[in-house]
Amino acid sequence: MKYPVNEVFQTIQGEGVHSGVPSLFVRLQGCPVGCSWCDTKHTWDVLKEDEVDTHVIISKRLDSPQYTQLTGSELIALFQKQNFKASHVVITGGEPCMYDLSELTDTLIEAGYSIQIETSGTYEVLVNDRVWVTVSPKVAMKGGMEVLRAAMQRADEIKHPVARESDIENLDALLAESELDASDVFICLQPISQKARATKLCMDTCIERNWRLSVQTHKYLGIA
Ligand code: SF4
Repeated sequence: MKYPVNEVFQTIQGEGVHSGVPSLFVRLQGCPVGCSWCDTKHTWDVLKEDEVDTHVIISKRLDSPQYTQLTGSELIALFQKQNFKASHVVITGGEPCMYDLSELTDTLIEAGYSIQIETSGTYEVLVNDRVWVTVSPKVAMKGGMEVLRAAMQRADEIKHPVARESDIENLDALLAESELDASDVFICLQPISQKARATKLCMDTCIERNWRLSVQTHKYLGIA
């Protein structure tokens, strides 16, 4: 199976439980969720006219909707050609769970990579059992999609952006609806836009509940 790859790059994971881990980010094209504040809107549509050769994706310097179609084996060959050293692969989007990721994640795991996916929780998560699943639940967005209980229950980590108290209340409601025991999953609160008030709220809540703080270290470092 081929997957529409918008971008591949090597960096340090800046968010959540894997903060600090050297990572290969694979951004897939396509997302119907419609978050108004989305910072990757160029990934939303998968148009035939935007399909390009792999070398165009590798030399991409600016965000664009261009993508290339790759199998898992072709993706590994690309990592090797680029001489990438990281052994942790983060599959993100867009919304990667639009696609059945079983074949891709099986291939990468067989080749020795550890895998993490980042999803909005609005699709069934079809991945190898050894994949680390990070759900950043997107509730009541323009696309009208629901966060699925099955996706929440598959999560190893719930990463939740927080600006104000109501964001934590919404997360509590979602955890209750999903019948998810907060002690069975890592919950990471992520202050929105490095705002001081949001950061303090997240810190206080994390300490009180033994949750994790995710501070988007890449934004403090000024890297991708
Ligand atoms: S789910 Fe992610 S990629 Fe899709 S609209 Fe929301 S923030 Fe953007």
